[in-house]
Amino acid sequence: MSTSNRVYLYDTTLRDGAQTQGVDFSAADKVRIARALDALGLDYIEGGWPGANPTDDSFFANPPRLERAKLAAFGMTRRAGRSAANDPGLNALKAHDAVQVVTMVGKSWDFQVTVALGIELEENLRMIGDSVAHAGKLVGEVMLDAEHFFDGYKANPGYALAALKAALSNGARWMVLCDTNGGSLPHEVERIVAEVIAAGIPGERLGVHCHNDTDSAVANSLAAVKAGVRQVQGTINGLGERCGNANLISIIPNLMLKMGFETGITEEGLKSLVSVSRTLDEVLDRKPNRSQPYVGASAFAHKGGLHVSAVAKDPACYEHVDPARVGNVRQIVVSDQAGRSNIVARMADLGIDIETVKRDALVRVVESMQVDFDPREVADLVDLIKRLEHEGYAYDTAAASFEPAGAPRPGPGARLLHPGALPRHR
Ligand SMILES: [Zn+2]
Repeated sequence: MSTSNRVYLYDTTLRDGAQTQGVDFSAADKVRIARALDALGLDYIEGGWPGANPTDDSFFANPPRLERAKLAAFGMTRRAGRSAANDPGLNALKAHDAVQVVTMVGKSWDFQVTVALGIELEENLRMIGDSVAHAGKLVGEVMLDAEHFFDGYKANPGYALAALKAALSNGARWMVLCDTNGGSLPHEVERIVAEVIAAGIPGERLGVHCHNDTDSAVANSLAAVKAGVRQVQGTINGLGERCGNANLISIIPNLMLKMGFETGITEEGLKSLVSVSRTLDEVLDRKPNRSQPYVGASAFAHKGGLHVSAVAKDPACYEHVDPARVGNVRQIVVSDQAGRSNIVARMADLGIDIETVKRDALVRVVESMQVDFDPREVADLVDLIKRLEHEGYAYDTAAASFEPAGAPRPGPGARLLHPGALPRHR
């Protein structure tokens, strides 16, 4: 079991997110997003892949000044049959001074090594070890993204573990278990992480990187943390190719508010969650998802009358957390579905007290009647009738005075003071 309660957060919006269909970040967009993530309090921001495209080179050439987060560059293990020192991809990583961390993707599924790379299994392990060791000479911190780890482990656990150990023994700070195809489920992730830790890789050295192809990326990430990993990778709003990546905007409050873990984010920083989510929507010119958990406009909106009346008594009746903790607000929706409570609550939101409104209405009515008492002393309808009766009006046989105009049955909105309905003066 892992002993530390601190979970490190690693954002890949600028790389995995940039691979989303229809997304094309400029270097300036990347800088803006990186700043927002840094202000939120993330530990690592992956800027992209130096040498892979001009945008990423331009971003790393003029990187944002980060207060808290470490800037990571993504890269690939050396090619087969080449030394790490002579690998152009690896050397592109050191061309930029701002890079503090190198995250290197390597294969951990034997099938991918033989089929996709077409090389010997042993050579792949040497590629991982050499590349991690070489990158360690260039930057202070190196991590291995173990591609297809969960699929690889299911097929050949011994080989998947050997890939992790090749990185660990060559000084990698983190071994990140990737669900690259996004096909795993939480119970599998939890079991496999527990087995990896039992096989001798400490949870404090393990991360998790999930894609969302079964709509389980957030749940898988949480299951991995529960089993002992201490770094989670994901993107803002779950941006990413195909069905997206693990959504940090949900993972962060789940870890902090539900599971009791510490992150680099303070209680105060957590309140900027809505604004960070919206920043990405703005950059992408996308309409925010109203139903997005924690940060959507509807996440704490109440429409059903029964719900609203309960929420007015105590928000915990229909809210799983206080919306203010993530920078969101409660909304009371007024509609034909709404009960009296919605309207009262909505008026309260606008600073209108319904009791004051009712009393003021009564005061105006009584003022038109020329009575001997001060209308401002009237507390409610019952009080008014008592006072009017005291002045000589009689209502015991005047039920019509309490009927709404034109209505067949008695109801609220009484015609008490309708001129034609005024009772006889005794
Ligand atoms: Zn990914």
